[in-house]
Amino acid sequence: MNLEVSDVNTQVILIKHPLDSAVFVRPGQALAAGSVVAFPTETVYGLGASAFLPDAVKEIFRLKGRPADNPLIVHLLSADDVGEVAESVPDTFWPLYEAFSPGPLTYVMPRRHDVPDEVTAGLSTVAVRFPSQPAARALLEAAGVPVVAPSANISGRPSPTRARHVLDDFAGRIPFLIDDGPCDVGVESTVIDLTSDPIRILRPGKITAKAILERTGIQVIPWQDQVKPEDITHPLSPGMKYRHYAPKARVVIVCPKADALIADAFLFDIEKDGGSIGLFLSEETWQALRGRLTSQSCNTDRGGRDEKMYDHLSLYTYEGGRDLTRATHHLFDALRTLDRQAVDTIYAEGFDGEEATAYMDRLSKAATVSGITCDT
Ligand code: AMP
Ligand code: MG
Repeated sequence: MNLEVSDVNTQVILIKHPLDSAVFVRPGQALAAGSVVAFPTETVYGLGASAFLPDAVKEIFRLKGRPADNPLIVHLLSADDVGEVAESVPDTFWPLYEAFSPGPLTYVMPRRHDVPDEVTAGLSTVAVRFPSQPAARALLEAAGVPVVAPSANISGRPSPTRARHVLDDFAGRIPFLIDDGPCDVGVESTVIDLTSDPIRILRPGKITAKAILERTGIQVIPWQDQVKPEDITHPLSPGMKYRHYAPKARVVIVCPKADALIADAFLFDIEKDGGSIGLFLSEETWQALRGRLTSQSCNTDRGGRDEKMYDHLSLYTYEGGRDLTRATHHLFDALRTLDRQAVDTIYAEGFDGEEATAYMDRLSKAATVSGITCDT
């Protein structure tokens, strides 16, 4: 029987630590039987379905409003299971697996013919990942099947990094949500294509080409060396052509010039802005900016401009000083939160360097002008 959307009661399963595997039995069995279960991973929350049940996989596309030509990643517990979906395993897989799995690295390899076309969007390859998040692993264990799990957001919304984000998009539409708190990394996994020679990064994530070279000696083509305009219309990884997030607010990436302070860069940008403003920055940067704003409001030349600016300021700060890891952890929550406050423009901190590729990629996708780098 097909349930009406409003008839689904979303059961939120709160995870306590240490983990009790009994908690995962019901959602695991439901997953194996064809239900959709949302769960946390170390990257973002995923919307899970059994990879070998085409109807369950189709339900994922329907719920997300995801284009059918955007393939899904299959989540497995360990390399022992890779033969269930891969026809052959490239030699390069093993040292990479040894170095980075379980963790936020996804491998594209030749698919087995019996993997449903819905999973791979009809491609000759399949993407696999081995999540490290303990609740994700306990759920995979309880389900006992390969699980496809795209990010648990409606397509076009930012990926969810908190259980509340999943409820914002799917409350009353999915039967189970496993809540184990905020996701550690905060952006989606690095996707690498093991079928190309040399291996290339199809989507930037926490694991960079530099880290891969350092830890395995394997040379891969970094993301930033291959994004050409033609990749946008003929992408190697179909998901790359979709804009991930189109906030109502304009998004501006704030990058300090060499040797300048980030607080000054924020001040320079927001001073010119007459509309309502949202800021995403570290608590220390905010305190420095606040100092500048309050000292400037004593300046009679400014005619009270800064008081007006305070009236129109929404803030999302993360703890401590300017830090890429913490900024990445908070990025999607900040975008969701500030956009909900209906500001005209969100000013978000930019970072430079290879480690920042994934953060800048996600932020650029939200920004009005994309492809910005902070290297100036
Ligand atoms: P998401 O599930 O939203 O994290 O997106 C999965 C990403 O992996 C998308 O960018 C897909 O295009 C990419 N992907 C999945 N399967 C393949 C594949 N067989 N070949 C290339 N890219 C893939
Ligand atoms: Mg996604």
